[in-house]
Amino acid sequence: MKLAQIIGQDEPIHILSQALRHDKLAHAYLFCGPDGVGKKTSALALAQALNCHKQTGDACLECPACRKIEQGQNPDVHLTEPDGQYIKIETIRRLQQEVSYKAFEGRVKVYIIDQAESLTPQAANCLLKTLEEPPSNSLIILISAKPYNLLPTVISRCQRLTFKQLSVENMERILKERGFSGEQRRIMAFFCQGSLGQALQLDIEPLLAERAQLMETLMSRLPLPGEELLDWAQQLAKDRQRVERLLRWLVLWYRDMLILLRAGGQIELLNEDKRAELTRQAVCFSVPEIQQKILIIERTQNHLKRNINAQLALEVMFMDLNSGYRKRNNYEAAA
Ligand SMILES: [Zn+2]
Repeated sequence: MKLAQIIGQDEPIHILSQALRHDKLAHAYLFCGPDGVGKKTSALALAQALNCHKQTGDACLECPACRKIEQGQNPDVHLTEPDGQYIKIETIRRLQQEVSYKAFEGRVKVYIIDQAESLTPQAANCLLKTLEEPPSNSLIILISAKPYNLLPTVISRCQRLTFKQLSVENMERILKERGFSGEQRRIMAFFCQGSLGQALQLDIEPLLAERAQLMETLMSRLPLPGEELLDWAQQLAKDRQRVERLLRWLVLWYRDMLILLRAGGQIELLNEDKRAELTRQAVCFSVPEIQQKILIIERTQNHLKRNINAQLALEVMFMDLNSGYRKRNNYEAAA
């Protein structure tokens, strides 16, 4: 991919493009930021731009160097990832040996170390030597979503570039380019807030089926009789992953209501197919009341992360969410 094609990371991409243009690249970079926002893609795009035969300041994607890097077959571009849980000292020693050889084909040898926080302390200390005396015509790129787990001495020897979470709009743009339908894009972008990597790993069809089922049996029917809610809590508590997904669907449900109250018919909803039901529910509440419901769901998400009794947490949440619909009955009675 060309650096110019990377979406949503204007700042780091601008810095890299400028450095390329003026031949002022650092010897080592640390790309940090959340998972799945384009750090590794950017590192590979930089490797292509550096080694491209046309040397226009970005990759051409057509020359043999660009193509081989795309296919992971360029001997001058190395990608190191954890072997199991860690990147061990043997791996870094091999890398150091490699660094000392001349480039086979390209101009610059590029070493990308993904999940650099997995370097063992020994491996990190070993890598320090290379970072302190970088061989000419080599570039080391460390990638990490958890840079606070890296040795400060390693961080201080790299130029640090921060990659941001992708906005929903940028996620949708990228997913559109990759051929996902409107409904799929909306759900993927909202469901995997800011992480394209996560979105692309989603198995979207079962997720859409689950959404449809939850909409019919739960969200669209709120408020539900108390005993039915206790049943839901009991059933759901047995399946942590399903609960996590349900809580996200619930947040999105109430977020749609917020959009409706604030923007009316102007903006497309995530659950666009349920607009009528969402509208009927939304008129029961004020904006702060819906914000309060979202807070309740987020609080439950935090409780579950801390291993608090899931069934109890869900019962409390459902009761809270169920409340406040009385106005709706009045509204319906009045209608
Ligand atoms: Zn090229």
